[in-house]
Amino acid sequence: MKIAPKLVIFDVDGVLVDVRGSFHRSIIETIHFFTGRRVTYAEIHQWKNRSGYNDDWRLTTDWISSLGKPIPYAQVKARFQKLYWGTKDQPGNVSREKWLVAHSRLERWSRRADLALFTGRTRHELRHTLERSPANGLFRRAVTLDDVKKGKPDQTPARAEKRTASRFYQLKSGHALTGVYLKSIDNRPDDYCWWCDLENISGTPQTRDHLFKHCSRWKDQQAQLWERVKKETRKGKQRWRVGDLLADERCSPAVLDFLRTTYVGRAAPPG
Ligand SMILES: [Zn+2]
Repeated sequence: MKIAPKLVIFDVDGVLVDVRGSFHRSIIETIHFFTGRRVTYAEIHQWKNRSGYNDDWRLTTDWISSLGKPIPYAQVKARFQKLYWGTKDQPGNVSREKWLVAHSRLERWSRRADLALFTGRTRHELRHTLERSPANGLFRRAVTLDDVKKGKPDQTPARAEKRTASRFYQLKSGHALTGVYLKSIDNRPDDYCWWCDLENISGTPQTRDHLFKHCSRWKDQQAQLWERVKKETRKGKQRWRVGDLLADERCSPAVLDFLRTTYVGRAAPPG
């Protein structure tokens, strides 16, 4: 089938522009600054593949929290920005950015269809990249983070005690100590739930969904959680996916209490 679109919308990062040297490097350096840990490019891809992380400052903040060092969003963002933009004396990581698509090709496309951009970048970040490039002017429209911004980040987990908050962010990003995650990093031979499947008989995979909805070990706590969620959102257990639950600020207080009263996201009871 041959298609002739009238409008072609591009994402910028990873599609038109290689941002490993700029945004991704800034994530790595910011995390190193606050925690002393060196995370990898592969880990960044894992985090980005989860929903809710278009915002690199939010991602970096949550990642640092998941490593047990809750640092306020504003502070993380300030450090990130310094690394990304650089200072008077030192060029920032922004200067390492590379275009992935030749301008001649974009130009050819622009004669056949209108080109537009849709990006998680701020307008300022986008303008900087476009202005230094001959591709500037080829795009009719750009929708940026500034156009879709949704106010402040979720304050509830950010203010919760450190241990619970880090489990919250780990679960949200899919890095919590669940059976499925531990198996994926070759830490366990299987992904069976060790809370309800003590003898390893049923072979129930310990997913987030299992822990929040079905695991018989946490039935009472689940009942309380979903009752509060329904009251808050008028949407019952069956209609929620756990990923959406963890991304919905209205549910954060109930989710945090659920974590406080269970060992969900822990490999074993404390002690
Ligand atoms: Zn279970």
